[in-house]
Amino acid sequence: MAKHLVLVGGGHAHMVTLVNINAFVGKGYRVTVIGPSEHHYYSGMGPGMLGGTYSPSDIRFATKHVVEKQGCVFLLGKAVRVRPDERLIELESGETVRYDVVSFNAGSYVPRLNLSEVTENIYPVKPIEKLMEAQARIKELASQKSITIGIIGGGPSSVEIAGNIWQLTSEYGVNQPRVKIFSGSRMMANYPEGVRARIEKSLKSHGVEIYTNGFVQTIDPDGINLESGERYDLDLIFLAIGVKPNAIFERSGIPTGPDGGMLVNAYLQSTAYPEMFGGGDCIYFQDQPLDKVGVYAVRQNPVLYNNLFAALEEKPFQVFSPGGDYLLIFNMGGGKGVLRKKWLTFGGRLAFIIKNYIDRKFMKKFQAIE
Ligand SMILES: Cc1cc2nc3c(=O)[nH]c(=O)nc-3n(C[C@H](O)[C@H](O)[C@H](O)COP(=O)(O)OP(=O)(O)OC[C@H]3O[C@@H](n4cnc5c(N)ncnc54)[C@H](O)[C@@H]3O)c2cc1C
Repeated sequence: MAKHLVLVGGGHAHMVTLVNINAFVGKGYRVTVIGPSEHHYYSGMGPGMLGGTYSPSDIRFATKHVVEKQGCVFLLGKAVRVRPDERLIELESGETVRYDVVSFNAGSYVPRLNLSEVTENIYPVKPIEKLMEAQARIKELASQKSITIGIIGGGPSSVEIAGNIWQLTSEYGVNQPRVKIFSGSRMMANYPEGVRARIEKSLKSHGVEIYTNGFVQTIDPDGINLESGERYDLDLIFLAIGVKPNAIFERSGIPTGPDGGMLVNAYLQSTAYPEMFGGGDCIYFQDQPLDKVGVYAVRQNPVLYNNLFAALEEKPFQVFSPGGDYLLIFNMGGGKGVLRKKWLTFGGRLAFIIKNYIDRKFMKKFQAIE
């Protein structure tokens, strides 16, 4: 029987493998891709979609279509566990899939943080699909009354969401909501002062209020309570408190790094199971911890593609080198951004024009095959 390659998740690190999947078929291998959605959404453009700059179809890749078009199988479902000794993936549906070689690009999730059982009006920033629902809800509520939106967390996704709520409601002609960021402590604390100050200035110019007076302890659909006991009533809440790698590996007893991501060596290969590979937010790179940014997932593409082939054909593996400093551009809404690369930092229209150009080019490249 032909060897079976299974891809769990069609994320940013699997893009090159997905568009070249017919190369595996051409060599006589079977390929199955497992994913909870027929599309994969490009997170870098997610806040822009919330703000109305992009439509959902601008920012998604038609995974199922691309896989089936090349003669492979797409299984709609969520992988929940691996039985590495039997080389089996268990799906939420109870179905199992046997593999010879497997690669994980199943991303990360926003932890629940003492969330009430009722999650109406509460939107984690991932999966990106959630931002579509949030957009519809903001339009609905803000056209009826004055609302207050809270964003929990003070990192990049929080500030991009805040800027793009402002853009959405300014352009949609509804009541401008009050937007409050609860960042616990200093907002964008891990970034250089030049970036932080520009972002803060941009948010304040849009009327965004920034609260640094303590961490959020509990969240319910009507508001939040801080550890200090203070209560804030809110109509809508975004959770932007950082991400954790997909829990598949911890659940399966596969070696992980301290954050729960699958521990991989320089070949992006599990340190315990040589037929298991992975990329993006769901792995922990043994040589050096990597930031949870799409940039690394994208850089891992050619190495994963090569090494999956190499594992099937018993050929030498390629080493992944994370590369140096990366370009960061934050979409602050209103067609403006904040850019940082090494010593260079600036904000304004040009920053967003550059981001928009890079992001659209990336999507065009991978949507071309559709
Ligand atoms: C709002 C926001 C904006 C961001 N902006 C940027 C940016 O501008 N630049 C940047 O570099 N980074 C950005 N990031 C970080 C970036 O999103 C992540 O680092 C990147 O998405 C990681 O890519 P990934 O493919 O590993 O994961 P994901 O993009 O999460 O993709 C994972 C894929 O796996 C699938 N999947 C999930 N669970 C399962 C399962 N159980 N079984 C099978 N399949 C599964 C999902 O459907 C998805 O297709 C942003 C993050 C957020 C939240």
